[in-house]
Amino acid sequence: MTFDYDLFVIGGGSGGVRAARIAAGEYGARVALAEESRMGGTCVIRGCVPKKLMIFASQAEALAAEARGFGWTQATAGLFDWQAFRHKLDGELTRLEGAYTGGLVAANVDIHKARARLADAHTVELSNGQRLTAKHILIAVGGRPQRPGIPGEELGLISDDLFLMEDLPGRVLVVGGGFIACEYATILAGLGSRVTVAYRGDAMLRGFDAEMRRFATEQLRMIGVDLRLETDPARLDRRDGAVRVTFRGGDTDDFDHVMFATGRVPNTAGLGLDDLGVALGPRGQVLVDEWSQSSVPSIFAVGDVTDRVNLTPVAIREGHCFADTVFGARPRKVDHSLFGAAVYTRPHEVASIGLTEEEAGERGPHDVYVASFRPMRSLFAGSDARAVMKLIVEAGGGRVVGCHIFGPEAGEMIQLVAIPMGMGATKAQFDAAIAVHPTLAEELVTMRRPARHIGMGGSDKTVGAA
Ligand code: NDP
Repeated sequence: MTFDYDLFVIGGGSGGVRAARIAAGEYGARVALAEESRMGGTCVIRGCVPKKLMIFASQAEALAAEARGFGWTQATAGLFDWQAFRHKLDGELTRLEGAYTGGLVAANVDIHKARARLADAHTVELSNGQRLTAKHILIAVGGRPQRPGIPGEELGLISDDLFLMEDLPGRVLVVGGGFIACEYATILAGLGSRVTVAYRGDAMLRGFDAEMRRFATEQLRMIGVDLRLETDPARLDRRDGAVRVTFRGGDTDDFDHVMFATGRVPNTAGLGLDDLGVALGPRGQVLVDEWSQSSVPSIFAVGDVTDRVNLTPVAIREGHCFADTVFGARPRKVDHSLFGAAVYTRPHEVASIGLTEEEAGERGPHDVYVASFRPMRSLFAGSDARAVMKLIVEAGGGRVVGCHIFGPEAGEMIQLVAIPMGMGATKAQFDAAIAVHPTLAEELVTMRRPARHIGMGGSDKTVGAA
């Protein structure tokens, strides 16, 4: 049987674009890609990139305050021009979109600006009515924000909406306690909105190391967020131009906007996967094996639509491995067991790789090294903010199996720690590196004694000052 293409990719986000470019550009496969929206997907258009630029923008007042702490008596951030920022942001996203499109064109990938659905195991039907066949089909459609399922939830916004707002809200409620809730609360508070966060749990960032969660939670309060834990909206109503929120328990409060950061779900609805018998998980994710192959052999899936590790660099790696394996005769799998992640809060970020202290304690004996200190830069400027660095080490001087940092540019640091950890480095090998002084990161190679031993079957003990 002959096909129009060797590969048809549905979705022009990070994972799909990488797979298409490698299959076509490196291995000469005949490739098409369908994207109904802007090329680049969630990360580039309505996620990581605009979010991080907004994080930078939101820090002006804090940087001015710091400058005053260093003797710049007149330092002030001035007034923030949201319209000017939005205009510039859109220009940047258009530039990136062009770069993504250009990369595909250079690799000879045919681009279809249309929505695609599967007609059969080798046929894609586009929203313009065109039907195209391919030997392999890659589903890379990502995820979409989910609302919590409460009455009036349509009155609330989702993360995509932040970048499109005409005006910044005066008073905003952010619902949720994950990555997006923390980062959006940081941005909006930094830009001058009055921010309330409602989270049903007792500390933000479930899944992260408990000590980091405590610091991240406290920091939100420190930057002026009205943090309401163990509470959740029960319903939303329109009231005199505002959104009235009734919380579980009966309290009410009015906000200009409510923003749901209550997780994301795989974007599989309407793709025709059910009809084809592609096995889906309970959240609608495409179930795939270690080669990203679905239950229908010609159909593969990478990225958030598979709900494995929902991070852009993981999707990119999955897309690349798929192309190497299927078109390059270089079978390559993704190791999902070790990956770094960062939450871009301010002034300190939370970044993490490997086991948390809690996970390590459940697995067996480990030593926990902790450095907690006030960084010289913010201390000098007059801030009491503490940074924390933690290494989890197999007991008896074994491998470093976890690293958690709460501090300025923690994401940058964790990226570098990922290299020795991926190589299985021991604590002694970390310590063999001579410190670069004065830096924050030098703490990672100068922690001499463990703060505590864990995982010893109920007899965990604190050792004393590290
Ligand atoms: P998360 O899964 O991180 O957090 C969702 C939050 O919403 C949790 O606190 C959860 O509570 C809460 N929640 C879920 N359902 C409900 C509900 N029905 N009612 C009330 N609260 C609810 O999702 P995000 O939306 O923050 O982010 C989505 C994903 O995007 C992340 O998992 C991450 O993979 C990715 N991302 C990565 C970023 C980065 O790398 N810096 C930045 C932004 C997003 P509970 O904890 O109790 O379950």
